[in-house]
Amino acid sequence: MIIVLKLHATEQQIEHVIQRVEGMGLRAHLSRGTYRTIIGVIGDEAKTQVAPLEAIPGVAQVVPILPPFKLASIEAQPEPTVVEVAGVKIGGGHLGMIAGPCAVESAERMDAIAAAVKAAGANILRGGAFKPRTSPYAYQGMGEEGLKILRDTGDRYGMPVVTEVMDPRRVELVYRYTDMFQIGARNMQNFNLLTEVGQTRKPVLLKRGMSATVKDLLMSAEYILSEGNANVVLCERGIKSFDNTARNLFDVAAVPLVRTMSHLPIIVDPSHATGRPDLIPACALAGLAAGADGVHIEVHNCPEEALSDGPQALLPEQYADLADQMRRLAELLGKAISQPAGAV
Ligand code: PEP
Ligand code: MN
Repeated sequence: MIIVLKLHATEQQIEHVIQRVEGMGLRAHLSRGTYRTIIGVIGDEAKTQVAPLEAIPGVAQVVPILPPFKLASIEAQPEPTVVEVAGVKIGGGHLGMIAGPCAVESAERMDAIAAAVKAAGANILRGGAFKPRTSPYAYQGMGEEGLKILRDTGDRYGMPVVTEVMDPRRVELVYRYTDMFQIGARNMQNFNLLTEVGQTRKPVLLKRGMSATVKDLLMSAEYILSEGNANVVLCERGIKSFDNTARNLFDVAAVPLVRTMSHLPIIVDPSHATGRPDLIPACALAGLAAGADGVHIEVHNCPEEALSDGPQALLPEQYADLADQMRRLAELLGKAISQPAGAV
C-alpha cells in the first residue's frame, strides 16, 4: 500500500508513521516528491488491518494496492475456479443450468417440475425449504420435510440439488440433504452464516444482496474462502433501483466486472432480477452473452397456485424454449453444459 502524507506533514510525523509501519513488521520506503511525500509499505498488507493508518497525524490518504478480498481476487489466482456440484461443473467454460420452483410445495409438484426441467436440459434442481419472506405472515417453507422431498426428487432424476440455508443453526441439517448451499440476497452479509458454511466443503451459491456492491459481494465470498471452503459460485440477482417497473435492476455489467476482479464463477438469476416472465428470456441470454457461468431460473407448473414467487415463474414449456436458446448460445460461445456422472 501507499501512504500519502499531508502537504505540511512535519519530519516528526513522517518519522512516527515509519515507526508505526515498521512496528507492524513491514518495511517503509520513503519517497519525497516536489509537492508530496509518500511512503511505500512493503510486506503483507493484511498486517495493517489492525491499525487505522488514516488516523495517524500527518497521513492524508492510504491507498491499498491489493484488493481486501485477498483469496477471491484475480491476483491470488488468475485461472478461473471450477466448482463441482456433485459432478456438475460450474465455471471455466462450464455452465450451471439451475432450475426449479421458488419453494418446495409438495412431492407431486416437485416431481412434475423436476421432470420438466430435467427434460429441458437443466443440470441442477432448485427448491426452497426455508424461505426468507419479507412478511412473517407469508409462506415460510416446508422445513425439513421440504429438504427430504427435494433430495428424493433430485436423486430420482439424477440431478444435484441446491437449497437455501438461512440460519447458522440449520447448516448441519441442510448439509445432510443438499449438494449446494444457497445463501440468499437477504443473508449475503450474515457473517456468522458465511463462516458456518465456510467451515464445510460443500459448494455455496452466494447471491448478491439487493443493496450490495460487487465489492461487498466479493468480501462476503472472502468470509467463506477464508474458512477454507473454496467452492463458491457468485450470483447476480438484481439490485434495488429508483425504477420499480421491474422487481429489481438486472446488473448485467456485474458479470464482466467480477471477471476482472475474481476467479470465482458467477451466474445470473433473471427470475429475481426482473420478477417478470416476459423479461426473463432476454436477460438470461444477455447474462450468458456477458460471460456468465450459468443461469438460475424459477419454474412452476401452475404459477397461480405457487406459494412463493408465482408471478415470476416460467411455465415448463417457456423454460424449455429458453433452455433451447441458451443451449444454442452456449454452443456459439464455446461453453459446455455438463451433466452429473451417472445421470439417468
Ligand atoms: C430465491 O432464490 O428464491 C430467493 C429468495 O432469492 P434471493 O435471495 O435472490 O431473493
Ligand atoms: Mn424465489
